[in-house]
Amino acid sequence: MDIQEKIEKLRKEIELNSYLYYVEDNPKLEDYEYDKLFRELEALEKEHPELITPDSPTQRVGGISEKFEAVPHKNRLYSLENSNDETELKKWYERVLKDLNPAASGQMSLFGTQNTIEDIKIPLACEYKIDGLAVALTYKEGKFVQGLTRGDGVIGEDITNNLKTIKSIPLKLFEPVDVEVRGEIYMPVSSFEKLNKKQEEMGQKTFANPRNAAAGSIRQLDPKITSERDLSIWVYGGIFEGKNAPKSHSETMKKLKELGFKTNKITVVDGIEGAYKCIQKIDEVRKNLDFATDGVVIKVDDIMSQNELGFTSRVPKWATAYKFPPEALWTNLLRVDFQVGRTGIITPVAILEPVSLAGSVVSRASLYNFDEIKRLNIMEGDRVLVKKAAEIIPKVLKAEKTDNSKPFKMPENCPSCGSLLVERENEVGLWCPNKSCPDILKGKIEYFVSKYAMDIEGFGESLIAQLIDRNMVRTWADLYALSLLDFMQLDLIKEKSATNLMNALEMSKNCKLNKFINALGIKLVGKESADILTQYFKTIDELKAASLEDLNTIDGIGEKMAKNIFEYFKDEDNLKTIEKGLSLGIKPENTYTISDNLKLKGKSFVITGTLEHFSRDKAQEILKSLGAKTPSAVSRNTDYVIAGENPGSKLEKAKSLGITVLSEEEFKNMIEQ
Ligand code: NAD
Repeated sequence: MDIQEKIEKLRKEIELNSYLYYVEDNPKLEDYEYDKLFRELEALEKEHPELITPDSPTQRVGGISEKFEAVPHKNRLYSLENSNDETELKKWYERVLKDLNPAASGQMSLFGTQNTIEDIKIPLACEYKIDGLAVALTYKEGKFVQGLTRGDGVIGEDITNNLKTIKSIPLKLFEPVDVEVRGEIYMPVSSFEKLNKKQEEMGQKTFANPRNAAAGSIRQLDPKITSERDLSIWVYGGIFEGKNAPKSHSETMKKLKELGFKTNKITVVDGIEGAYKCIQKIDEVRKNLDFATDGVVIKVDDIMSQNELGFTSRVPKWATAYKFPPEALWTNLLRVDFQVGRTGIITPVAILEPVSLAGSVVSRASLYNFDEIKRLNIMEGDRVLVKKAAEIIPKVLKAEKTDNSKPFKMPENCPSCGSLLVERENEVGLWCPNKSCPDILKGKIEYFVSKYAMDIEGFGESLIAQLIDRNMVRTWADLYALSLLDFMQLDLIKEKSATNLMNALEMSKNCKLNKFINALGIKLVGKESADILTQYFKTIDELKAASLEDLNTIDGIGEKMAKNIFEYFKDEDNLKTIEKGLSLGIKPENTYTISDNLKLKGKSFVITGTLEHFSRDKAQEILKSLGAKTPSAVSRNTDYVIAGENPGSKLEKAKSLGITVLSEEEFKNMIEQ
């Protein structure tokens, strides 16, 4: 293959993967695999500059879909050059110094003899490189008027309505200024994990990483879906115009913070050595952050110098992104094991030849479900690529066949109790049907005592295993019937720890209703949904008595979840367990309070049709701030229906139930009073 052909082949491969990444939000390659292709192309083009074409991926930024209106950017957006190690970072700094002051660069050892590059210090701003999706937000006289994706840098996609659903994006600034703000939309790692869990439980597509989840969520045609995803922004730049415009990047960031933006943390250091140190510090703390960072961005702080340095067709010359090494490695897949969780679903787990990855030894990785095994075409004996982004459970990304690869047998029996596994209607995967399966019981009790549920101290995995294996506990309510002597029969439990366990149980009896609901372990109902339920039901008895219709009207409780809750409280065994728990002293208290001063406290409003002066989200936000509830459907518990233009069937229903209907004008009067 000659050079030209090689270059064209690389360009095609890069273009295809760029499309999957930027437009479809569904990459097939790992980032570092993509970067490798990109660098290969860059190197070839550097050797053969005559072969560079303006449409080569090395000369362009990102991609654009046809889903949204295409709008030209007022100021162009760029990508960033990457530095993969200190040597590359140093080369960037050398270029900066040389371009800024060719005369002074003669003092450097590279070009002369007196100073080393480390001795020449200019202020550099170091900040997290957030792994999300770039947006440009335009504010006119302090009001948010438009938000665009980066797109191809020249033209962006208009996603203003979706951006308005993100609470950390201010709609109005503290001062009436004109400014264009740049930032990264991201999904907190914890929310990403929750979203994937929920998607998985509902049998829907999961996201490969927080970046894809953020990009997929912000580029939804329906802003309501965006508003349901927990997205946020870190602002990392702004363009002010006029003579009072800030003189440095750090001043810009300070000003943006004062205006009300959630700004990315920045540290200004002197020269390249300061940058090395800052990178080291960020590398230490980044694993504990609740957002994904894939590096550190280093920018020349002074804006005049930035202007002097300028841009290439793709990147600013005054900034570079130091990328952390990939946290993925190849190892051998020894075998696939199966485990059963508290819901009874069977999950496959990869047992690996241990590898040291991102600071810890990894010997197991999640394979999620049987579809994932099929998708990856996994066989025992494969070479597998395992990734561990410290916050996330290690997972297998790819599999390659070896001479030892052999298919494995799907389980027929539960790995815990041996029951014949079953498939369930409308659900994916295999399930253990045995309600008394020890591992299911252990999972349920572990969930019941966990932090966001009843938060009972001292009940670790091995203690719970003993209680189940010795048949002392079959349901969570049985825990409260245990005596000091019961605990003292267990291995390694002496009188003191038994007393502590009894005390912990005793203390947990006066619990909060939301925690108790979460602890019940109703399928799909987690901490957030339990919180929502306590806003609608004052006691567990009220929730028990809720009709499916009632549950279906609650904003934030989906159809499947409503059905699960309804069925949970129809099950005799569940009711008996709750009865027993309550009779043994559990007193769930609803601590959800709305200040008595709030005008619409406890009232329930449903909106139908289009309002002229408010988006639906805004109207709901106002209502909630006044203490009202805003379920999505009309029921006999609804107090008011607000009817805008072209109201739907909700209006008919309201009339048939005799519910007060408000016009937009009446609603406005009510909230203005
Ligand atoms: P990039 O992500 O390497 O860097 C540029 C972007 O960084 C900016 O547009 C901005 O959005 C963001 N950024 C985050 N924090 C910032 C900060 N503090 N200051 C300034 N900018 C900040 O570049 P890119 O052009 O968006 O994408 C290239 C990268 O995308 C590649 O390196 C690759 O890893 C990934 N990619 C992967 C695939 C794939 O198939 N896996 C395909 C295409 C691109």
